[in-house]
Amino acid sequence: MLETICEVLEDAYKRNWITSRDGNVSIRHHDRDHFYITPSGVRKQTLQPDQFKKIKINRSIHSGWGTADFLYAWEELDYTDISKNLRPSGEIPLHFGLQKELGQHKDDVRVIVHVHPTYCVAAMHAGIDLSTVVDSFPELSRYTKVAPNVGDVPPISQELADRCFEQLKLDRDGNIAYDIVGIKGHGVVAIDTSPWRAYEHIERLEHICKIVLASGKY
Ligand SMILES: [Zn+2]
Repeated sequence: MLETICEVLEDAYKRNWITSRDGNVSIRHHDRDHFYITPSGVRKQTLQPDQFKKIKINRSIHSGWGTADFLYAWEELDYTDISKNLRPSGEIPLHFGLQKELGQHKDDVRVIVHVHPTYCVAAMHAGIDLSTVVDSFPELSRYTKVAPNVGDVPPISQELADRCFEQLKLDRDGNIAYDIVGIKGHGVVAIDTSPWRAYEHIERLEHICKIVLASGKY
């Protein structure tokens, strides 16, 4: 599956959805307490499976005044000699925030893809809430549920991670209400059970955004 993620990023690069060092992807099997994430600062069009970072999800119980809650933290695990010298993607708060909950989902694998597709970003820049374009395009709404946009938030921030979590309506059982969310002035985050399935949500939304912008009616 890591090889497939490399293919997805190579394709995203060819489509101009990312420049060389942009874009990040993570993958988790539901019964594992770790996930894999793309490294930071590596050219994504030539990414190799042995460059991925392996991240453990640590969970501890935090007790307050009559309340108990889980505290989560992530920790790098040894994976390969090559990945040892690399850092995890700067967007790890986004992937960690989602993957720690997605692990409980009934499906066996969850993949999160973050890229910067031209027309999705252009549509948000033009003031379009991506969740509204589905109304006129049933072919999109049939296969892809689009969340309301995340507004202006800094890249690689906890705020970006928290807003994406909220907009995707991820619950504590690992279910999401939406397949994809746009981040204004930045990009999109898509989730599904395989790299190509997540990619297809982006492809579908990108295609419709291109049509909407070409029509000039929005
Ligand atoms: Zn980004």
